[in-house]
Amino acid sequence: MKLDIIIPAYNEEKNVSLIHDKIDEALKDIDYNLIYVNDGSTDNTYRELKELYKKDKKVKVVNFSRNFGKEAAIYAGLEKSTGDLCALIDADLEQNPKYLKEMYNILTKDEDTDEVAMINTKRTNNTYAQKKGSRSFYKLINALSDIEFKADASDFRMFTKDVRNAILKLSEKNRFTKGIFSYVGFNVKYIPYEVEKRSHGKSKFNFKSSFKYAIDGIIGYSVKPLKMATILGFIASILSFIYLLYIIIKTLILGIDTPGFATLASLILFMGGIELICIGILGEYLSKTFIETKNRPIYIENKSLGFDEDVL
Ligand code: UDP
Ligand code: MG
Repeated sequence: MKLDIIIPAYNEEKNVSLIHDKIDEALKDIDYNLIYVNDGSTDNTYRELKELYKKDKKVKVVNFSRNFGKEAAIYAGLEKSTGDLCALIDADLEQNPKYLKEMYNILTKDEDTDEVAMINTKRTNNTYAQKKGSRSFYKLINALSDIEFKADASDFRMFTKDVRNAILKLSEKNRFTKGIFSYVGFNVKYIPYEVEKRSHGKSKFNFKSSFKYAIDGIIGYSVKPLKMATILGFIASILSFIYLLYIIIKTLILGIDTPGFATLASLILFMGGIELICIGILGEYLSKTFIETKNRPIYIENKSLGFDEDVL
C-alpha cells in the first residue's frame, strides 16, 4: 500500500532534512511519498525543501503564499495526497518517525482498523499548568459537545484514504483538526507514545494561541453556550419579576420607601454584565459564521514542487 506522509513546516529550516533522513531510515522497505507543506516560512525552509526535492523524487512540496496555520497545512497535504494511506507528523522531530512503521504495520495487517492515533498520555514536554489546562479543556469540551474528544490524542496519526476523503468533505474554514477527527468517526486504535524534545527552533504555540484554539474548538463543536445564554436570560428575568412583585407589595403595605440607590446601581451593573456576556457569546458565533460565508480559500499556493506530473 502506498503511503503519503504529510509534514506541515513553518520556520523549520534545520528540521526538514533531519526528519527526511529519519523517515528514510525508519521506513526502508515501504513505498511512500513525503508531502511537505511550507506554511509561509520566513526563514530558509523553502530553499531547504527545494534541495530535498532535487535530491529525492519521493519529496513533494506544497508552498503557501503566506502563513495560513497548521490546520490549513494539514488540509492542503490531504488534498494533494493520492496514496492508500496518509500520515501526519510534525517537522520538529518531537514525534519519532519510528512509530510510523508501527502504525503502518497495524493498518496493513488489520483490515478493521481505519486509523491509528498516537496519544501522549505523559505530556513529557508540558509544564504543570499546560497539563492542567489541557485536562480542563477536554473536560469542558466533552461536557459541551455531542461528539467525544479523546484526551491527549495528537495529530500524529495514520489513516486510510476513506478517512482522508471524509475529512476533505468537511471544508469549513475554521479548521479544528482534533474536532474533525472526532467528527468523522471510523475505527480508531490509540497507541501511547512519548513526545521527544524539539530538535531545532521553537514552538509556535503559546498561551494566547492555545486559548484561542480552545475557544475555536468549543464554538466549532457545540451550540450549548448559546443555549446557556438563553437559560441565563430566563433565570435573570424570573428573579427580577419576583423582586418586582416584592417591591410592589411592599410599597402597597408599607408606603413609599426611601430610595434604594445601592440596590438599583448593583442590579443595573449585574444585569448589564449578564447582557454583555450573552452578546459576546452571540458575537463569537456570528464572527465564525461571517468568516464561513465569505467562502475564502483555506490556503493559497505559490510555486509548489512535484505535483505537475499528477495533473497529466
Ligand atoms: N506549524 C505550521 N504552521 C503554523 C504553526 C506550526 O505548519 O502556523 C507546524 C510546525 O512547523 C510543526 C507543527 O506545525 O511542524 C507543530 O508546531 P509546533 O511544534 O510549533 O507546535 P507544538 O508541538 O508546540 O504543539
Ligand atoms: Mg512541536
